[in-house]
Amino acid sequence: MREELQTYIDKIPEVAKAARLEETFWINGKKIPHGEKTITRVNPSQIEDASRRLKRFAPYLKTVFPELETTGGIIESELREIPGMKELLNKEWGADIKGRLFLKMDSHLPVSGSVKARGGIYEVLKHAEDLALESGKLKETDDYSILASQEFRDFFGQYTVQVGSTGNLGMSIGIMSARLGFHVIVHMSADAKQWKKDLLRSRGVEVIEYADDYCAAVEQGRKNSDQDHMSYFVDDENSQNLFMGYSVAGERLKKQLEEQNIPVDEEHPLFVYIPCGIGGAPGGVTYGLKQAFGDAVHCFFTEPTHACCMLMGMATGLHDGVSVKDFGIDGRTEADGLAVGRPSAFVGRVVEPVLSGIATIEDAKLYDLMRGLLKEEDIFVEPSACASFGALIRPEDLHAYIRREGLEDKMGQAVHIAWATGGCMVPEETRKEYLRKGLKE
Ligand SMILES: *Cc1c(COP(=O)(O)O)cnc(C)c1O
Repeated sequence: MREELQTYIDKIPEVAKAARLEETFWINGKKIPHGEKTITRVNPSQIEDASRRLKRFAPYLKTVFPELETTGGIIESELREIPGMKELLNKEWGADIKGRLFLKMDSHLPVSGSVKARGGIYEVLKHAEDLALESGKLKETDDYSILASQEFRDFFGQYTVQVGSTGNLGMSIGIMSARLGFHVIVHMSADAKQWKKDLLRSRGVEVIEYADDYCAAVEQGRKNSDQDHMSYFVDDENSQNLFMGYSVAGERLKKQLEEQNIPVDEEHPLFVYIPCGIGGAPGGVTYGLKQAFGDAVHCFFTEPTHACCMLMGMATGLHDGVSVKDFGIDGRTEADGLAVGRPSAFVGRVVEPVLSGIATIEDAKLYDLMRGLLKEEDIFVEPSACASFGALIRPEDLHAYIRREGLEDKMGQAVHIAWATGGCMVPEETRKEYLRKGLKE
């Protein structure tokens, strides 16, 4: 362990606990009322800009991905109530959920089957649009379905897109870039699953494998890309574009809740739990939710005990200046989408005034929760996605937060949303393997 970190362990009990690899629930003492109004690094007009861009691309997306026909080219997921899972959590996991429990099914997002279909696809589209506008081949007022033509495919084919990934980001960037015609290289860390590499290669994506962790794959990808002026690097450690792509989820969720006649206001608090890797996805979604609902929404991140980088970064205030390895934590987790040892350089700072807290969960529980969700609701999600239940199964800690916020008498009308971040593209064989994992023979 890095020696100067001992003072944080001595001073902050949650940091000490997380460093011992115990499940931890950290409440963010820096959250303030109307905190979203104090954020200056990004602003709400960027969400609008992203939202409009996704609408411009809808006719194109509908053309190239038939599964988007029904939504007119909008990539969005279902919000489904999961009463059976609520019962299971209350009865067998010691949870104390009084309101309603929903699943936000980004696990089933079309095109790439994970939350990365928000940010990752958005960033590729933005890059493609920038190039096409700059070349004079495209105007914002055009029908973007022309981008599916051979002329545009050849145009994008001159350029390369690169990304470092533990798997799902590579899937989104790879699938979308290849579809547009880009040459695309995905730098995969050791955590990445074989089937993801296979699928990408089948779509014409170049996959480079590393024996090392995520940060190493990113570093190599960035280096490669910097040497080629025709290459664009999707930088998960710093990207504002990814962040804005995720943030559009806020207004979309607001509309879905309205359609289902579910009120969210001071009397009807909304609790949202989002699995966190480097922080871009949960950070962007949180930013969007805060803009949509203000103080009525309470956002929590959830991380594996072995990859609790955002908790360490935010609780110490060191952000990307600290990695879990600095605390002697190995960063190894079965939740491959969350296997990140160092948090984003900017997300923790952005969400500091709005995030409610961070909970960590042991890997073994992810598989049991996954089986539970399948049995109760007939919904398959990948183990990473089940980290979203991590805060709900720590009722005493959650109550401490609820008391602190003065919400004790409102929880009966509360809505809880577990953000399922991935799963529908997991192949049958791997599913079976997951479903057997950790069971006694
Ligand atoms: C990437 C990912 C996350 C978290 O997103 P970050 O931007 O890395 O924080 C959560 N769940 C799954 C399944 C993911 O692939």
